[in-house]
Amino acid sequence: MTKTFKTKEVHIIGGGLAGSEAAWQIAQMGVPVILHEMRPVRKTEAHHTDGLAELVCSNSFRSDDKHYNAVGVLHEEMRMCNSLIMREADNAAVPAGGALAVDRDIFSQNVTKALEEHPLVTIDRTEVAGLPPEEWDSVIIATGPLTSPDLAKAIQKLGGEDELAFFDAIAPIVHKDSIDFSKAWMQSRYDKEGPAGNGSDYINCPMEKDDYYEFIDALNNSEKTEFKQWEKDTPYFDGCMPIEIMASRGVETLRYGPMKPVGLENPHAKEGEFKRPWAVVQLRQDNALGTLYNMVGFQTKMKYAEQTEVFRKIPGLENAEFARLGGIHRNTFINSPKLLNTSLQMKADTRLRFAGQITGCEGYIESAGVGLMAGRFAAAEKLGLNYDAPDQTTAMGALLHHITGGGNSETFQPMNVNFGLFPPLGDVPKEEFKGMKGKEKGRHKKKLMALRALENIQTWNGQEIKRAA
Ligand SMILES: Cc1cc2nc3c(=O)[nH]c(=O)nc-3n(C[C@H](O)[C@H](O)[C@H](O)COP(=O)(O)OP(=O)(O)OC[C@H]3O[C@@H](n4cnc5c(N)ncnc54)[C@H](O)[C@@H]3O)c2cc1C
Repeated sequence: MTKTFKTKEVHIIGGGLAGSEAAWQIAQMGVPVILHEMRPVRKTEAHHTDGLAELVCSNSFRSDDKHYNAVGVLHEEMRMCNSLIMREADNAAVPAGGALAVDRDIFSQNVTKALEEHPLVTIDRTEVAGLPPEEWDSVIIATGPLTSPDLAKAIQKLGGEDELAFFDAIAPIVHKDSIDFSKAWMQSRYDKEGPAGNGSDYINCPMEKDDYYEFIDALNNSEKTEFKQWEKDTPYFDGCMPIEIMASRGVETLRYGPMKPVGLENPHAKEGEFKRPWAVVQLRQDNALGTLYNMVGFQTKMKYAEQTEVFRKIPGLENAEFARLGGIHRNTFINSPKLLNTSLQMKADTRLRFAGQITGCEGYIESAGVGLMAGRFAAAEKLGLNYDAPDQTTAMGALLHHITGGGNSETFQPMNVNFGLFPPLGDVPKEEFKGMKGKEKGRHKKKLMALRALENIQTWNGQEIKRAA
């Protein structure tokens, strides 16, 4: 039955990357929208202006390579879907090699202007300091990593105490197909099967005595990123300690902590060698597809270049490709795989949708991409239309699938778009890869995935929209 609404408008809370894109998409579908942005009335620790879609740090939207890079594919899909954020990013572009970087002021001013001038958009400069009033029957919450405390508390109450995090603690995530299984092996500690396992759920990378002490030295000597003063004030540090801080507390600490080797036997050990290694790095499945594995307990503040160098010292990970590197930041995000349905509505209160970084995607463009989808879902619902989710083979669909169910809700942490979130290619004729080996073959696979995504997003974008029954 078609849902009836008390009001015509969709309300959006938060005029950042996601909220601005959502507002544009809704208005372009002919539905009025009210965008509530608390700046300049109330500021955040990171924003400096009162402009919509302010970029709080880097001015880069990362790679613009639509053939070989998942972020570039996302850019292109969004261009095809009439994205305001992409239109103004292209208009404000500055030279940055293969990346899309922008003049942040021109970008934000033009996004603000486009929304201010749109006849169906009203901008209301107020903080929504709690759950939205009952009469707002379609709301998108897009308040980002620095959601104001009163709204955050209200969301936490509605979703459950443990389902909203105030910081992220990201362990590096590795593409499974880049792990060397002549050194690594699959086994759960003590072969325990657990509720969803079979006794060989973890990937184990073994270290012998010398490997281990060299690795501890490398961790201790690595360059770290500093916490900002306001991040230091967030009470999270003890619960989620960076791996290098643990290492600095004593040379054996990790061997009795996340790298303990107990309950594990290395099937690659030679005759006469101990089967139990000196230490073990364990990786746990991170997505339902089984293409990505996270390094358990390896959340870190090491600089990105250092992480790649240090973690490739781990036996089995010498050629590891990282879907994302580790980090710890002030953030605000909900446990989306548990709390949201596939059209980004909160299961406990379906008048509320979520978009942007608060859903557990990570990055400017991913946030805007989720905003684009949330906007279309909300507008379609107001219009009484059926509106499908984009196919999982597209960058937007892969991201949506990850945050609304593909990601593991037990270990859910923010995620950038990457090819590991896309379903494998399936049956590709062998001739497609004729004469290609290793990296060249991997690169060609990315191109095929990119082409598949760009074709399938057209179907979504041009979908035949039917009235809801
Ligand atoms: C310090 C810092 C540095 C970052 N650096 C980068 C980077 O270099 N590259 C990158 O890709 N990503 C970076 N990020 C992540 C980045 O913030 C997000 O990718 C992106 O801005 C998220 O978009 P969003 O729309 O979800 O949130 P935002 O862009 O933050 O927008 C949320 C908006 O909601 C408003 N708001 C909050 N609470 C309320 C309320 N109760 N009522 C009304 N309005 C409210 C805020 O004022 C803000 O304008 C960084 C984040 C932080 C905190």
